[in-house]
Amino acid sequence: MKLEGKVAVVTGASRGIGRAIALEFAKEGANIVVNYRTRSEEAEEVVRRIEEIGRKALAVRADVSDPEQVEEMASLAFEEFGRVDVLVNNAGIIIKAPLEELAPEDWDRVISVNLNGVFYAMRSFGVRMMRQGGGSIINVASVAGHTPLEGGGAYSASKAGVIILTRQAAVEWGPKGIRVNAICPGPVLTDMLRSEYTEEELRRRERLTPAGRLGRPEDVAKLAVFLASDEASYITGAVYDVDGGLSASTYRLLHELLRQ
Ligand code: NAP
Repeated sequence: MKLEGKVAVVTGASRGIGRAIALEFAKEGANIVVNYRTRSEEAEEVVRRIEEIGRKALAVRADVSDPEQVEEMASLAFEEFGRVDVLVNNAGIIIKAPLEELAPEDWDRVISVNLNGVFYAMRSFGVRMMRQGGGSIINVASVAGHTPLEGGGAYSASKAGVIILTRQAAVEWGPKGIRVNAICPGPVLTDMLRSEYTEEELRRRERLTPAGRLGRPEDVAKLAVFLASDEASYITGAVYDVDGGLSASTYRLLHELLRQ
């Protein structure tokens, strides 16, 4: 097992990608703090599944956009488990509107969850990881952090911020034994994606992806396991796309459009 004896905190682990990461980590031997904001039943269900696998788990409600709640979560996690080896900053939201119609409060909400939330958690857990001699932080950004997302200006800006924050922290904290990496998923079938597209649009997107399908939460979770493990001990400040080849497809998509 790749994460035997490690303790991991996964933000936004009640559903979607975070849930898959929490379960995959548990299968690899880790005990898990399952963070969520609203869906306590789903979070408790993830805890039950982890316990069935034979690991310890604790659901912790905390809004990552509130630095005090994040600090309380960090102190609780260290109190319960004695250490935290891995932090996965996965919690995120999307609010779409063209820039000229985007309400300042929607901009603020997206930035405060997706970017400020990552900073608050990195800070609260990073300080404690330094004291314990090291750790691994994995930030879930998005391919929208390097390619503008139609109507997703706030989301793209927040994810671009996560990418540079990842690299910044990797440089500052490398000497303290903390590795910091980012994963940029393309479209992954979760509530977030389903809220944005119709079934027909999702099927068409599948056909436009070189891999011939949309991403599954497990596709992201498998890479997170590797980055969290000691096998990745020389990897820090790296940013990985998990998108079935979508980001590489600009000319292929242009070609398809021109032929229509
Ligand atoms: P999702 O299905 O909508 O799940 C979002 C998760 O984040 C839920 O567990 C939710 O908790 C939690 N959350 C939301 N706001 C929070 C807050 N303020 N504090 C704490 N937890 C909060 O989303 P997903 O598709 O799995 O996305 C996970 C991450 O991957 C996000 O960062 C997203 O931007 C990124 N991503 C997703 C895709 C995609 O296509 N799905 C693509 C690229 C990147 P509750 O259940 O309690 O509300």
